[in-house]
Amino acid sequence: MRSSDVIRMLCAAVLFLSLALFAFIPGRRRRGRRKLLIPLFVSIFVFLSTFFVDTSVLLPEPVPEGSSLQVHFIDVGQADCSLVLCDGDAMLIDGGNVADSDLVYAYLKEEGVKELDYIVCTHAHEDHVGGLAGALNYASASTALCPVEEYDSNAFRDFISYLGDTPITVPNPGDTYDLGSATFTILGPIADSDEPNNTSIVLRLEYGDTSFLFTGDAEYSEEQDIIESGAILESTVLKVGHHGSDTSSSYVFLREVMPEYAVISVGAGNSYGHPSESVLSRLNDLGAVTYRTDMQGTIICESDGNSVLFQVSKNAEADTLSPETADGRYSG
Ligand SMILES: [Zn+2]
Repeated sequence: MRSSDVIRMLCAAVLFLSLALFAFIPGRRRRGRRKLLIPLFVSIFVFLSTFFVDTSVLLPEPVPEGSSLQVHFIDVGQADCSLVLCDGDAMLIDGGNVADSDLVYAYLKEEGVKELDYIVCTHAHEDHVGGLAGALNYASASTALCPVEEYDSNAFRDFISYLGDTPITVPNPGDTYDLGSATFTILGPIADSDEPNNTSIVLRLEYGDTSFLFTGDAEYSEEQDIIESGAILESTVLKVGHHGSDTSSSYVFLREVMPEYAVISVGAGNSYGHPSESVLSRLNDLGAVTYRTDMQGTIICESDGNSVLFQVSKNAEADTLSPETADGRYSG
């Protein structure tokens, strides 16, 4: 049942009760009757407003019985790859590097995902688009979301060629799509940029009372654009931007998102010094429980619409907010 229906039923109950009392209070007890006018008018007002106001903000839409949502943050080293499964629907967000093609192919096969409802290339850098050809070698894709239709790299050309007849859809901020009982909204990019990281598709997925924010490699300027757009950013789980680089996850952005959980997709011993100590420190300040693919391998998050549960492949007790990287070095 939708939250607006619940509110309408409550209003109808108040209305009915008020009218019943109104009828039973004798005419001369005017003051008693007058008091009933307040709940009467309030319930009529709230009832009518449910047709015009998005009540899901007040009461989250409950998920249907038997529904489930899983987000797999697949360990592709210094790259990104997330598989979202909901009620038989599937979305792949990025595919890791070209070298991860076989891994992504095998992962989809293992999960029995032969049809992707959405394949999302957050931006054209190889560590995001590279393995998508491998995914498309196994599974078909109904909708392909990407911020650009062309990019001068073999990895991108392979992605286009494996898409076959499926055209690239360049989404606009505010566009919404259904994935099973979940819904996701495109938040960015808002503005054009010469820096591919800042063309990253940023999307927020809602499932019942839980939400997930996928940020690609968006840096400060795209984060700021999205904040200024007024979009809802608050999310239960944040896929941390740009592998935990200090060029992303500004304090002001994190304060808007206020994640309970953060996931960093990052390679052990990478040459970039990701994740940066300052981002880890900001996540620590927010009290976000943080997971990292370099320390914990593939991370699976399951939501029942009210809360989320995480399962890691290894090192469940790892000190993920430590500036020490998985191979014992210190990150910069
Ligand atoms: Zn990247």
